[in-house]
Amino acid sequence: MGADGETNEAARLRAVDRYDILDTSPEEGFDRITRIASRLLSTPIALVSVIDERRQWFKSRVGLELSETPRSVAFCDHAIRNADVMVVPDATADDRFKTNPLVTGDPSIRFYAGAPLRTRDGHNLGTLCVFDRAEREFSVDQKRLLQDLANLVMDQMELRLLAGTDPLTGAFNRRRFMGALEQEWSRVKRYRRALAVLMLDIDNFKKVNDTWGHGVGDEALKRLAEVCHASLRSHDIFARFGGEEFGVLLPEVSELHAVAVAERLRQRVSDMDIPADGQMIRITVSVGIAHVDGAEGDVPAAAKLIEAADDALYAAKSEGRNRIAYRTARASS
Ligand code: GH3
Ligand code: MG
Ligand code: MG
Repeated sequence: MGADGETNEAARLRAVDRYDILDTSPEEGFDRITRIASRLLSTPIALVSVIDERRQWFKSRVGLELSETPRSVAFCDHAIRNADVMVVPDATADDRFKTNPLVTGDPSIRFYAGAPLRTRDGHNLGTLCVFDRAEREFSVDQKRLLQDLANLVMDQMELRLLAGTDPLTGAFNRRRFMGALEQEWSRVKRYRRALAVLMLDIDNFKKVNDTWGHGVGDEALKRLAEVCHASLRSHDIFARFGGEEFGVLLPEVSELHAVAVAERLRQRVSDMDIPADGQMIRITVSVGIAHVDGAEGDVPAAAKLIEAADDALYAAKSEGRNRIAYRTARASS
């Protein structure tokens, strides 16, 4: 693969990342499809496989105990290079697979068929695939069926994503933010990492709507989300909590750094020009900051961090708005 191929793989991995599916729990919406695939195609094994950088990970599986394998032994890593369904009638007669440990040992694969899970922008995330322990042929109709089911898997992926996204700004919603907070929280405790939460609320936003109309208010919300997004690192989490309120998760930052990020966001929002009735208007935000450091012993509950950020936001509002305020999250009280 040349330089171009590498670029494509980097973009593909970003697409995998965007769907935020790796290492999540089983979901009925996907399990239903693997059950149908296994039944309709009469194969003992059916999988939804997602190809990560170094492994294939199974979102759903029928007839297999493994939850992932190294990428080097993944049939699906070959299948994602095709636009069509890839069929291997007899793996022992195929140079690519005859020495594969999944063929020579458990689960003794002979037959494979995999349909790419293709995103709308043309990246193959992985496959919906079926395996058999006996060699087989696969008809054109069966290929079509498998691809239709793979497309249903993609619909499910899209639904999942939409359910965690705010439609106006495209930012994560509160629900997705809370899920991410739980994940980050376990890292704080397990690896003694630091974590900061910011809560942003637009100042006097009701007045913006009352003066310039709801459309201008919506535009302000969209621009604020863009500016914040562009100001954060790729692994920071930015979400719209609802209304004119936003939350930010900053993994692995010091208190000082969290304060600096909050101040930068406040500044950049206040510098935005928002078109309203042929002129430009400006808005400001108040920001509450809370921080926890897992290295400092007693770690409070995740909810305490949100509470502390909320308290800080309230303080920033009552101290005059267009400012940041900081609170430490404590284990007790
Ligand atoms: P404060 O500085 O105390 O936060 O004052 P505020 O006016 O921003 O707060 P308040 O909670 O009184 O009003 C929030 C306003 O946000 C009310 C509503 O009109 C507006 N709002 C909430 N969601 C949306 C939305 O999706 N679009 C628009 N345009 N406005 C929204
Ligand atoms: Mg407000
Ligand atoms: Mg508010």
